[in-house]
Amino acid sequence: MILQDYIKLSIAELQKIVNEEKRRANAIILAHNYTRPEIQQLADYIGDSLDLSRKAACSNDDVIVFCGVMFMAETAKILSPYRLVLTPEPNAGCPLAAGATMEDVIEMRRRYPEHVFIAYVNTTAEVKASVDICCTSANAVAVVRSVGESPVVFLPDRNLGSYVQRKLRKNNMILWGGGCYVHQFISLEDIELARKEFPGWKIIVHPECPPDVAESADLVASTGGMFRWVADHNEPVLLGTEIGMIERITREMPEKQVKALKENAVCSNMKQITLAKLARTLKERIFEVKLDDEIISMAQKSLKRMIEID
Ligand code: SF4
Repeated sequence: MILQDYIKLSIAELQKIVNEEKRRANAIILAHNYTRPEIQQLADYIGDSLDLSRKAACSNDDVIVFCGVMFMAETAKILSPYRLVLTPEPNAGCPLAAGATMEDVIEMRRRYPEHVFIAYVNTTAEVKASVDICCTSANAVAVVRSVGESPVVFLPDRNLGSYVQRKLRKNNMILWGGGCYVHQFISLEDIELARKEFPGWKIIVHPECPPDVAESADLVASTGGMFRWVADHNEPVLLGTEIGMIERITREMPEKQVKALKENAVCSNMKQITLAKLARTLKERIFEVKLDDEIISMAQKSLKRMIEID
């Protein structure tokens, strides 16, 4: 059946296909925090990309279906190389990840042979394979701190790199020029308006937001950090991140007062993962994530170094 055939089905029919095929394939469904609510509701786990891949690696399921953009599905494959990893929309890319290629890294390494290359996990498998250590938004400060006085090239998110640099007062860091269009456009004006409209509410923003936004917020945290903060506090809070995260928290903790700092902070790449595509992928077992063995082995080293520090 082609995608159009699935699109014609009702939500209940699509959910039935997903649940039946999941059982038949002994599959685990992983959904990133920024995916559509109907995807998250069918997932075994919801979370950030690395956490999900680590959960899948610890599971016994034969098939991993990763609902997220391509670099995330690749990370699942790197951590579970002998399992079948599928992704419902292989064309769902991430402009941030696309902003740094393996060739770029090789060229930079030639220019800065003394530097330690640290890549945010929002990078392709090839880039992970070309750097020394990976990091997440939650552990970036700890990972950079771990290399001591060594000079660093940090990629690809400039805002996250700048946040780490400010936290550690580390001057010998070269920051890549990339950015996430969703977080990049959360502005100081959004914070000022929110302070007027919601006096007394806490404001927590993602470190991919611009430096002035991060400096004006009450707290800077990864999506995992935001989730934990809301779980542990009863104060009303505005979250500066993609709206899928707010939808998840509202669904899972309905008693909490949580709103989006910017309601149109939407990652259109993530929203390409639809219920019809998920049903089709599971039913037809299509869109397998395939990576070169050498890339997997080299990328595993960068991820392993990070996990040892974490
Ligand atoms: S939210 Fe930003 S970093 Fe995440 S997938 Fe979308 S564009 Fe990429």
